[in-house]
Amino acid sequence: MTIAAPAIGHLYSCTGKNPNAPGSVESKITWIDFADKTWNFLTKLWLPQGTFSPVTGTYTETISDDNRLISVNNLPVDGKIGDWPMTNYAKLTELDPNPGIPTSSSFSFSYSTNPTEAPSPTCVSLGAIGVTKNGVIISNAADGRGEDAVAREIVDEFGGHPARSDYHYHFIPERLDSESLSGGHSGIVGYINDGFPIYGYKGEGGTEMSNDDLDLCHGHKHGTLGYHYHATLEYPYTVGCYMGTSISSSSNGVPPPGGGPLGAP
Ligand SMILES: [Zn+2]
Ligand SMILES: [Zn+2]
Repeated sequence: MTIAAPAIGHLYSCTGKNPNAPGSVESKITWIDFADKTWNFLTKLWLPQGTFSPVTGTYTETISDDNRLISVNNLPVDGKIGDWPMTNYAKLTELDPNPGIPTSSSFSFSYSTNPTEAPSPTCVSLGAIGVTKNGVIISNAADGRGEDAVAREIVDEFGGHPARSDYHYHFIPERLDSESLSGGHSGIVGYINDGFPIYGYKGEGGTEMSNDDLDLCHGHKHGTLGYHYHATLEYPYTVGCYMGTSISSSSNGVPPPGGGPLGAP
């Protein structure tokens, strides 16, 4: 649930609920038990793979001094994407009339390589809150209405969907959790806008992380790893709040502040 202060298992959102925002048709959703506030991953519908085949995704990460510059075209590097637009699928469109078509679009993120924890956690905004190493931006757990986007919105079987032309993930697709450190801890799957990394689903010893293992912001630190977030299958899936200081927003087709490799004056 979206709330006004950080709490374990919740999203500390900068944005209030907006019931008028576009989204899925609640009365048609069969996989959510609204009284129980649970949903069934196995009976949810997903947009399948089809003929839609945009250009391959790109991800570049350049470290200079204490800056990590990540540039993507916001399409999956592994090429795995569903058959957008969903308007070709009548049954899915009845549930979620999202007309978007994922399109190549440059996003750049300029992060510190040595992020520090802020005096207090801060709220998470709509739009890009980070980026995966698969070249696709991460949005927070809520849809435009402030409800659980993963439970309610139709995404493709590879875990993403477009907002107009901007493809994004509201959770970390499990296939991206493909590397592991010694001891079974997941590898880094992406970076969050405060510069801290987000790792996959497994913590020390290879055990799957749950909200109970993580702090208010959905992270922790142990050993030599320093502060980091984890993906979970539980809401809020990626981050609950920012433990560090977030960059104000990502740049979309605009050079990062101060120029940099993309910053032609
Ligand atoms: Zn979304
Ligand atoms: Zn960890």
